[in-house]
Amino acid sequence: MKKSTKLLILCVFLAAVIAAVVCFFVFCSGSEYEPSVWLAEGDDAVAEVDFETELNGLSVMENTWETALPQTVVYDIIKAHFESPLPEGKTEKKAIVIGYDGCRADTFRLLPTSKRSAINTLLENGGHAIFTYAGGVNYPAEPTQKTSTAPGWCSMLTGMLADQHGVTDNKKPKGVEPRSLVLSLAEDGTVDSSAFYVSWAKHFTKKRSTYIAEKEYAEAKGIPAVYLRAEDDAGTKQNILNDLARKDCSDFIFSTHEYTDHAGHHSGFSLQNLEYVGGFRDAEAAGADIIEAIEARPTYETEDWLILITTDHGGIKLEHGGPSFEERITFIVSNKEIAD
Ligand SMILES: [Zn+2]
Repeated sequence: MKKSTKLLILCVFLAAVIAAVVCFFVFCSGSEYEPSVWLAEGDDAVAEVDFETELNGLSVMENTWETALPQTVVYDIIKAHFESPLPEGKTEKKAIVIGYDGCRADTFRLLPTSKRSAINTLLENGGHAIFTYAGGVNYPAEPTQKTSTAPGWCSMLTGMLADQHGVTDNKKPKGVEPRSLVLSLAEDGTVDSSAFYVSWAKHFTKKRSTYIAEKEYAEAKGIPAVYLRAEDDAGTKQNILNDLARKDCSDFIFSTHEYTDHAGHHSGFSLQNLEYVGGFRDAEAAGADIIEAIEARPTYETEDWLILITTDHGGIKLEHGGPSFEERITFIVSNKEIAD
């Protein structure tokens, strides 16, 4: 074979390899992001504003970020709901937490243009919204725990900070103690049944998951607390809708949805990132479906529902876990008044 022919074959081969690699990146890795059908006009051009100015501009909030409450208040709100007397005409207490994982508080800037929003649904029907914080202490004090997923949700489910519940990061499993509300409310008979719906594997599916010990304990003792993981957020929503469709649905439902967290880790926790905005839009649409399903229950009129929407932490660039303002400030939206 001539030298020039060999060179030509080598060139063609190299070109084919390069083309294959380019195709792989374009068609495979690029396919992870599917634009949300709920995106609104202007979502691709949200003006960048200083974070503090953004938070101060959210007139819907009933406190300021300086007077934000610790995220452990979620625990107190749920306990108080189940301990309070039934209002007239109501025969059963119910509560649900619709968790948006990694949802920055400044996403509330997107509410006025929402096509479909669980937060707007609650607020337009007499609901309340407050700032809360992750990290153990409010910004700008040095945080006492990571602004990570497992420590954050665990603080809400136990009413304790990481130095007490022991879940200092995502790979630190909790023992049976301290019990989460999912376990304790069902075990002590406050509720007839509870459920924990997620897609994130590290809650109770993997070996070193946060709630693996209490899930096994609940199963061994026959406690009516269900821990169910779906493949993705669509599956989590379906699990919740299936539960709500039952005549005697779970009295306490706790759920986390990964739309915002996944988008943030993939391409940035920022309103200037259309994928992150889309993640928020998708979480909100799912939340709205869940609230509609609650209100459509044939026994809704006689049920006393507490509906909470909250998040475990914010995010900055592609991360969270650290001490920044953007990671620390969180929120709670409730259909009921939130006591201090
Ligand atoms: Zn998280």
